[in-house]
Amino acid sequence: MGTRDASDGRAAQPEWRVRAAELAARGVETVALTIVDNAGICRVKTFPLARLTEVAERGVGMAPCFDVYTSADRMVSSPHLGGPDGDLRLFPDPDRIVPLAAQPGWAWSPADRYEQDGRPYASCQRLFAKSAADRAAALGFTLTMGFETEWILRRPDGTCPTTGPAYGMTRVVELADYGRDLLRALTDQGVRVLQFHPEYSPGQFEISTAPADGPVAAADDLVLVRETIRAVSARHGLRASFAPTFTAGEVGNGCHLHLGLHRDGTDLHRDPRAPYGLALDAAAFLAGVLERLPALLAVGAPSPASYLRLAPSRWAGAYRCWGVENREAALRLVPGDGHAELKCFDATANPYLLAGSVITAGLAGIAEGAKLPDPVTGDPAGLADVPRLPRSLDEAVDHLTASDELREAMGEVLYGAVLAVRRAEAEDFADSDPERIAADTRWRY
Ligand code: GLU
Ligand code: MG
Repeated sequence: MGTRDASDGRAAQPEWRVRAAELAARGVETVALTIVDNAGICRVKTFPLARLTEVAERGVGMAPCFDVYTSADRMVSSPHLGGPDGDLRLFPDPDRIVPLAAQPGWAWSPADRYEQDGRPYASCQRLFAKSAADRAAALGFTLTMGFETEWILRRPDGTCPTTGPAYGMTRVVELADYGRDLLRALTDQGVRVLQFHPEYSPGQFEISTAPADGPVAAADDLVLVRETIRAVSARHGLRASFAPTFTAGEVGNGCHLHLGLHRDGTDLHRDPRAPYGLALDAAAFLAGVLERLPALLAVGAPSPASYLRLAPSRWAGAYRCWGVENREAALRLVPGDGHAELKCFDATANPYLLAGSVITAGLAGIAEGAKLPDPVTGDPAGLADVPRLPRSLDEAVDHLTASDELREAMGEVLYGAVLAVRRAEAEDFADSDPERIAADTRWRY
């Protein structure tokens, strides 16, 4: 990753001036520049549009301590981060900046983070995702990726705005204006919606969007989709919760990661000669991910609340197995659509960190020529020989602690910060019962 200096921003000035004029013409006055921290919280700095070209050149300041913040805003420390010192520069992305349809007068951009001297910030998860994609590309592989978003709606007084049954048209009728406004806002922002439907739990809905070219675009899409849902919900007098466990003991919100592997323009999920259409490299990639799911859970299911969601027979993918169209397997292969779905992850994950970690695991699988075990049919809960994924954050953290591959890929600073936040979250909730955990995380995400 190259060092960045002000001349990079200056070189891009004509492009940024065009962007600023376009945004002004669309009524934008203020820009929200976001990062996602290691606890999965989207944090923001905002500035007036009039400063956009200056910000593109010099960045916006932000403290590095957010990478060791817990979901409850408790600052902890890692071997490298924590405390009041230091400052970073946040840079917007000219390809992603977009007016926010549900926040008139606002635009949004994800940020890359650099040190003041122009070096890439070692704990920038978006740069980590980029570097993982670059490692894949150097081996000839590209990935399509997309996250699926589930959320639960409530009125401010806590009551549920829908009465209709799971997956029922009644809920769409009850919230027809909301659904239309949401899809319109996403479409206006250039997000291609594939589906919107009511989910299982009371007041629960889901949106899936078109796969993006690569992990960074997929993670950016997810942030934009989630914050748009939050904003449209607010405009309709509703609150949206993306937390893994809204009500202890009930079906929660997943944030499944869909991915497809390609090599030199060939779709490795549609090999007509291979079993399930999976070319050797795609099978090895998925086998590598499946093998490493216990460690990946500390990245993709990073909250104590994640483990209340990750229970058998709730379509959350609590077992370390794969299956063709099997909704109880952590890895669901969808041969008809040419991709695989990782179901065990949720919205408390940092999507950049997760995408980069999954790529790391998949490339390790390719490097070792990993083979997929036999697929599982039916609910693995009834099968003796299918392993459960970790049942607690502590258990997942033990696996991440033992993963030299993820440690090396993230680098010491990012890896150390992730572990520090995980241990702090586990400690903070160690004495909480499931109801307390659900209550304390419900409105943080
Ligand atoms: N809500 C389920 C979860 O916690 C997922 C349901 C589905 O398969 O979409 O992941
Ligand atoms: Mg769903």
